Amino acid sequence: MTDEHADAGPARPYLAGLVLAGRKVVVVGGGHVAQRRVPSFLATGARVTLVSPEVTPALEGLAGELNLELREFVESDLDGAWYVVAATDDPDVNARVVAAAEARHTFCVRADDARSGSAWTPAVGHHGSVTVGVLGNREPRKSAALRDEIVTALRDGDLSATDAHDRTPGVVLVGGGPGEPELATVAARHALASADVVVADRLAPRELLDGLGPHVELVDVAKLPRGRSATQERINEVIVDRARAGKRVVRFKGGDSFVFGRGYEEVLACLEADVPVTVVPGLTSAIAVPARVGIPVTHRGVAHEFTVVSGHLPPGHPESLVAWDAVARMRGTVVLLMAVDNAAAIADVLVAGGRPATTPVAVVVDGTMPTERTVLTTLGDLADDLVAHEVVPPAIIVVGDVVAVARPAHYGRG
Ligand code: SAH
Repeated sequence: MTDEHADAGPARPYLAGLVLAGRKVVVVGGGHVAQRRVPSFLATGARVTLVSPEVTPALEGLAGELNLELREFVESDLDGAWYVVAATDDPDVNARVVAAAEARHTFCVRADDARSGSAWTPAVGHHGSVTVGVLGNREPRKSAALRDEIVTALRDGDLSATDAHDRTPGVVLVGGGPGEPELATVAARHALASADVVVADRLAPRELLDGLGPHVELVDVAKLPRGRSATQERINEVIVDRARAGKRVVRFKGGDSFVFGRGYEEVLACLEADVPVTVVPGLTSAIAVPARVGIPVTHRGVAHEFTVVSGHLPPGHPESLVAWDAVARMRGTVVLLMAVDNAAAIADVLVAGGRPATTPVAVVVDGTMPTERTVLTTLGDLADDLVAHEVVPPAIIVVGDVVAVARPAHYGRG
């Protein structure tokens, strides 16, 4: 074969969707290529046989889900197979696999030399019910990049002709994460792209609202009439009314809807009105904001529990449901939300209940946002430092030795 022929490659491939459920697929080789392919095969419901004297730990972990043959390949491994992948690091073995597949009229992908196989693996992406496959001639990076662009465009609604979104009327409660758009889940983005109406909180990642189409009605909760419970009633009304009118309503909140988000009140309102309601969990600021500034809420040998507490009522308030004395007696990390105004009283009960006044405290203001800052202090100095640093909500207050683990120099433990 001349170089010219080699460059031309085989004839144009035919892109098909294989239904592999219940069918035998053989992967020969147990390295990184196999590690990438096998989970996709398992996701199709295929019966996967993996043949390799050695496999990566990740593949070993899948042993329960596939037929693992820890030995050299033999031709008869392909008997009864519908699809084969030759992915060893030995070109001679891969060539034998391809030949054995050819003899059985079974399509075979060859990882080290795509053109000598009888099938190519496309770059694949999923969006809703749509699967996208891109086959570039020996340019896997280009294919993957194009696939990413297509999937992103689908996700952002830029390819509206191929609307893959679920548009069933009803309410979707979406947790948007702590603020930065990157920290919203893929499911949250899908939900937004499917919305006819978006009812957004102040702490929801607002940059994501930029991407909403002009037809989408945006209800800004921050602008609803004042008064805490009046607002909640109004929100319940809006989501139920719009859903009843046949709209798909996304209720878009910061963090996770069920962590001090009053999300379940909205679920109850929907259930009562017989409106279908689903939930997309979000990354709660209680864990994500400390993590973002490098503070773990647990650490081996330091904290075996963490407690997330709302500080919106001061200790001793008749409506408070928090046993602050018990929280004080526990030894793990305390993560306080909505606690800036009552921080002084909370620090007092924690110290009175047994936590040392020297307990490290980190206050993370506007976590994950451009204005983010962290104030390091102690339980004893918390109240003064909040004033000195002019801390205003939203802020996460992390109490416990994990703060010193993450900032040893500040606490003289370096
Ligand atoms: N459902 C949300 C919490 C709602 S309560 C969640 O799961 O994250 C609102 C409180 O959350 C704020 O008063 C503040 O304590 C905290 N909070 C939310 N987002 C924050 C952020 N980006 N930075 C700091 N604190 C945040």
